[in-house]
Amino acid sequence: MRMSKMGFKPEKLAPKDADTINHKLLVQAGFVRQLMAGVYTYLPFGLRVLRKIEQIVREEMDAIGGEEMLMPMLHPAEIWKKTGGWEIDVLFKLKSRTDREYALGQSQEEVVTPAMKEFIKSYRDLPRRPYHIQWKFRDELRSKSGIMRGREFLMKDMYSFHLDQADFDKFYEVAKKAYLKVFARMGLSAKVTEASGGAFTEKVSYEFEVPTEAGEVNILYCNSCEFCVNIDDINSYKPGDSCPKCKKEELIPAVAAEVGNVFDLGQKYTKAFDLKVATSTGEFIYPIMGCYGIGVSRTMGVIVEKFHDDKGIIWPAQIAPFTVYLIDIKKDKEAQEIYDQLTASGVEVLWDDRDINVGRKFTDADLIGCPWRMIVSDKSLATNEVEIKSRGENEIRMMKMEQFIDSLK
Ligand code: ATP
Ligand code: MG
Repeated sequence: MRMSKMGFKPEKLAPKDADTINHKLLVQAGFVRQLMAGVYTYLPFGLRVLRKIEQIVREEMDAIGGEEMLMPMLHPAEIWKKTGGWEIDVLFKLKSRTDREYALGQSQEEVVTPAMKEFIKSYRDLPRRPYHIQWKFRDELRSKSGIMRGREFLMKDMYSFHLDQADFDKFYEVAKKAYLKVFARMGLSAKVTEASGGAFTEKVSYEFEVPTEAGEVNILYCNSCEFCVNIDDINSYKPGDSCPKCKKEELIPAVAAEVGNVFDLGQKYTKAFDLKVATSTGEFIYPIMGCYGIGVSRTMGVIVEKFHDDKGIIWPAQIAPFTVYLIDIKKDKEAQEIYDQLTASGVEVLWDDRDINVGRKFTDADLIGCPWRMIVSDKSLATNEVEIKSRGENEIRMMKMEQFIDSLK
């Protein structure tokens, strides 16, 4: 993409009203704009990142048997009244001009369960794992964490249906592993964290927590083993307690952001919507359901919180808006050739071909945070090489173009 052809530009100054790093950097670098607290427009750079996160999530959900669909955001009140969900405080409710009541989806159990009822009739139809990636609406009281807490936000939500608890338990472990893979592919190390089952069930649920000061969750974790617990609603643990799992070390407190979670829903929704199946012996039972959420837009915010310096964002390569930020120093013809060569090799390039001072291009390259900065100048052309610098390092390297392209693979 050529910067001179784009209407969206990075800003010289950070927005004044930004409380968090992700809000400040994403606005200044030209990735998002805030419409109101908790509601954002994703500009072209921001949308590219969001789509890449979404794609990683999609690939890993498909790999464990997910069936992608797209459920609506506008729901009739009746389905929410049926489960008691109409009373949830964050549910946005609306009334039509004919006085009919509706809700904006804050989650999708009330839609997916009746939708699947038609397709799940016998034990042979199980298990099933429908999911979608869709905007959610929640009347959050505080929305001061940039895109990390939206009133409108993008979530991947998967729902699973199982014949019995054993089958659910087996899939629960598979889903947890897939979640860790999703976050690892984005450069995040998430902790599988025990939490209360919330409004849904008495059982523990698991949250995927990424330690960051920008988060809102208090966790305790063990350095010797995987144990991690959310202490905001499970108060049986305190800092300094010995790890209940390995007993080798004391639990360490940290603040974290919840990027995903998985729940055992039991039979709550299959009973509410009377979704039952015939077993092999001809009895009728209510399947066990699970739900599995990932905050796609929140994850983007968390990544900015984790990967930045005082100059700007440092995107992990897998989700960067572009791989290369190309700057030409008065060599636009040669830069065009390099741009074409990179593009033909499948490398995503943002070419800063604007008619502005080169210093500003360097500043914007750091702010936008693509993994590689490439400079076309007299110096690089003289040796028939390209001059590259990784966003996270200071070292400038000269390389043959083929060698650089190979190194990306
Ligand atoms: P939180 O505890 O942060 O309010 P939650 O436990 O209510 O979230 P879920 O209903 O389980 O969240 O939603 C699944 C995922 O969606 C969460 O793990 C989180 O990553 C994301 N999410 C939830 N609420 C928001 C929000 N207001 N803005 C952005 N992402 C959100
Ligand atoms: Mg939570």
